[in-house]
Amino acid sequence: MDLNSVIVYSNGTFCRYDEAKIGLLTHALHYGTGCFEGVRGFWVAEDEEVYLLHVREHYARLKASANMLFGALPGTPEELTEITAELVRRNGFRSDLYIRPLMYKANEEVGVRLHNVRDGFAIIAIPFDKYFDAERGLAACISSWRRIDDTAIPARGKITGSYINSALAKSEAQMNGFDEAILLSHDGHVAEGSAENLFMIKGGVISTPDRAQNILEGITRRSIMDICRVELGIEVVERAIDRSELYSADELFFTGSAVGVQYVTSLDRRPIGTGELGPIARRIMATYEKAIRNKDARFADWIIRTYGARVGAGV
Ligand code: PMP
Repeated sequence: MDLNSVIVYSNGTFCRYDEAKIGLLTHALHYGTGCFEGVRGFWVAEDEEVYLLHVREHYARLKASANMLFGALPGTPEELTEITAELVRRNGFRSDLYIRPLMYKANEEVGVRLHNVRDGFAIIAIPFDKYFDAERGLAACISSWRRIDDTAIPARGKITGSYINSALAKSEAQMNGFDEAILLSHDGHVAEGSAENLFMIKGGVISTPDRAQNILEGITRRSIMDICRVELGIEVVERAIDRSELYSADELFFTGSAVGVQYVTSLDRRPIGTGELGPIARRIMATYEKAIRNKDARFADWIIRTYGARVGAGV
């Protein structure tokens, strides 16, 4: 796509992508001192609408991440939500979207620290289809890289510099012929995928690593827990999970804003369950797909309209 035709929001103004520049000495570029979000927009042709999913929750998490970096956002989650909807309107998008709000330490100078560094802020929205190419499930492996520990980099912040951990795991997995990596925590429990949370189903029990496993507390993870409660009548169990439990799972699936819900067919070359999409993941995926496109009134408060209204309810 031609990025230069995209309108972005950069430090208080809407401008063309190629007009928004940052200098080579920008702090965040050298030290990874930024934080970001990945928000999804979904185009529904019959409604002539782009729905934004959980956008306020993403800004609330961004605010928390920024706070960890002694930074601040240039508005409340509600104000930034309205700017995001305006950005979609200015671009006139009629497709699914990936929206990237970014807070970055903006001083152009040498010196590693977090305090007394100016904050920059941008929102970039681009048309986006699928994170993984096919509808097929994923071949996953356990990474030789461990998930960052909260004692080193705040694990529940979505911090730019910490994505070197994800990138190392993802490249290792893909260069070894897998689609995705699962990282263990330092004490050897299952943490998450390179950019997704993980759920395990065994004997009808749905489990996911708890918040003390250095996971990013995913917004999709929370949504899937809601679906399990509302649609399936099942409370998801949050607990420490061992690697070998995954091998004997009936079903495994990843969740994340970019991937949605994506099931795992094999782990370390061992088939998971039947090696096909399992019945519970299938039901969760179907419900999620409807909810994000305003086709399930039970989850209408997940989404807001962009063209049809200013910030308001989904349905
Ligand atoms: N873990 C990591 C490391 C991620 O980058 C993401 C994507 N933001 C997730 C989990 C899933 O989080 P969410 O559902 O909020 O997108």
